[in-house]
Amino acid sequence: MNHQKLHPSLWADTAIAASPLNKLSENTRADVVIVGAGITGLRTALELSEKGLNVVVLESKEPGWGASGRTGGQVNPLAHDTPEKICAHLGQRAGMGVVDAYVNSADEVFALIKKHNIECDAEQNGWLRVAHCNRAVKQLESMSTAWQKVGLDISYVEGAELHRLMGTKTYGTATLTPKGGSVQPLSYTRGLCAAATSLGARVFSYSPVGSIQKKGSRWFVKTDHGSVDTEWVVFCTNGYTDDVLPGLQKTIVPLVSLQSATASLPQDVYDQILPEGHTYADTRRVIYYGRKIKDNRVVFGTLGVTADCKRPSDVKRLYEGLAETFPQLKGIELTHQWGGQIAHTPDVLPHLHEPQPGILAGLGYNGRGVAMGTVMGRIMAERILGKSADDLQIPVTNYRNAPLRHFSDIAVKLAVPTFEILDAFEKRFT
Ligand SMILES: Cc1cc2nc3c(=O)[nH]c(=O)nc-3n(C[C@H](O)[C@H](O)[C@H](O)COP(=O)(O)OP(=O)(O)OC[C@H]3O[C@@H](n4cnc5c(N)ncnc54)[C@H](O)[C@@H]3O)c2cc1C
Repeated sequence: MNHQKLHPSLWADTAIAASPLNKLSENTRADVVIVGAGITGLRTALELSEKGLNVVVLESKEPGWGASGRTGGQVNPLAHDTPEKICAHLGQRAGMGVVDAYVNSADEVFALIKKHNIECDAEQNGWLRVAHCNRAVKQLESMSTAWQKVGLDISYVEGAELHRLMGTKTYGTATLTPKGGSVQPLSYTRGLCAAATSLGARVFSYSPVGSIQKKGSRWFVKTDHGSVDTEWVVFCTNGYTDDVLPGLQKTIVPLVSLQSATASLPQDVYDQILPEGHTYADTRRVIYYGRKIKDNRVVFGTLGVTADCKRPSDVKRLYEGLAETFPQLKGIELTHQWGGQIAHTPDVLPHLHEPQPGILAGLGYNGRGVAMGTVMGRIMAERILGKSADDLQIPVTNYRNAPLRHFSDIAVKLAVPTFEILDAFEKRFT
């Protein structure tokens, strides 16, 4: 049965068709069970199926229901910190693995799309990271210098040239990363799903994993209507992580990211905005980010409080942020508004865990999971295919609890308005 119960969004209205899928309603065996059918889980499934492993993917709702089907779809090949800081934190060897993973992540996404002919409006036109205040200009300078040194193609854009590339004078300084780009994210996720199933992966929708139990050297994975006896279980649940794998949920804080799409714009207005098809994201704590898409629309996002984007303050933040960025769009209707959960980690880095033999978990992309979820899926597949944990591009780390986890609902509700005040203060006074 092909359920169609995605969270409403522009992507849900415009994506390629979903593969027909069923619930798991039998007891079966597999080499690998993947929990969660977003970008991370489906990339893992694709790589393993290609190598002939017997793969089962179990998804609570349907592929792309989580962040992967709701994201802004920006493919951004940059971490939140400098390579030096990442290496100081993880050690030189492990740190450089992570840095390389970021540097090559966008190319990896676009090569994968090409290899599997995924129809997802993929464009690699470059990503602008724009400074919202003078303090952020200094931050962009040091990031740009540091990432250039490790081989990332990143340069500086200022003044009139930036105004032309953005189609607005709101920002004065940016870095440009030409390898960045964008996809229609639900189409990308569904494309990964179709490619994995065509290679033999069995993907089940509406099959939430309720428990996993050790059974000799194997694992017994239970859903409401079936079970799988398997050698490996891979958790790819990111911002939607529950308590099935003890301890994992505490390692991340789920934050709400919001998205909106404008009504179709008059051609002259559309042509003026982001005329060379760049995506952009600014340096605010309560980030503004956006891109242009076909049908003459602009997609704009920020952080929020409610994942269904029903709270008036969240809707207001979208309208005001869009108008602040592009004054020519003041008053334009936002035909779609939606939100979802991203996973924030204390060190703002993605994490790969192997808490017990046969269990992997990859999560914590801090808003950069289109590229890094794709990378993480490949790396987890490499581990299962026999690569030693020491040789992986992202190191296997122990759980580290996110300090605000217990208070995350209240913390998120308080953090967004507080950070907005700090952002506005910085913009005015630094
Ligand atoms: C509004 C928004 C905008 C964003 N914009 C960008 C962007 O522009 N660029 C970028 O790089 N990143 C962006 N992100 C982040 C990015 O979308 C995520 O990092 C990425 O999609 C994570 O993919 P994933 O496969 O790991 O997790 P998800 O896509 O969230 O999938 C996890 C899945 O696990 C399932 N699940 C959970 N528990 C269980 C269980 N017990 N049993 C079975 N299934 C389970 C869930 O149903 C869910 O479908 C954005 C996120 C949001 C919400």
